[in-house]
Amino acid sequence: MGHILCPICEKDDRIQKITSIVTSSTIQSTHSSATTATTNLATKLSLPDAPDSFGIAILFVCGVALLPLGAGLFIHTISLLVQQKLNTNELVFNGAGVLICGFFALHCFRQIKQIPLTKRKKLNWATLYYCHRDDCVFDPKTNKHTSPEGMNSLL
Ligand SMILES: [Zn+2]
Repeated sequence: MGHILCPICEKDDRIQKITSIVTSSTIQSTHSSATTATTNLATKLSLPDAPDSFGIAILFVCGVALLPLGAGLFIHTISLLVQQKLNTNELVFNGAGVLICGFFALHCFRQIKQIPLTKRKKLNWATLYYCHRDDCVFDPKTNKHTSPEGMNSLL
């Protein structure tokens, strides 16, 4: 570590890389010696993972499949409506189908769009340090610091 100092106490004796806190708590949790405090801290400091390539493929297939399904159902409903072949129940049912397809398709694409952001956050996150004396998370590059709960503001 050497030159990396906590921006609050300006010492390096109680600082630890966030990645090593999270990793060591995962290893420790298999032993009974893990303290709840360490585990809680690691939970606060860990970052949700971006979906793996399998997850991305599922999201993509769902999004791509649901969009034409919703659009097809929409067009079908409109054409039945124009021909006055639709009763109120069918209209509500088809309308709900269109909304559900649209909603899930959008959700899938939004998830996919966030992947680069999640990956960039993960890179920043891996450079952060924690000071056990001050209970603060800090970025050694900028010296910005925050509570473990506010860690997202540094990412
Ligand atoms: Zn400190």
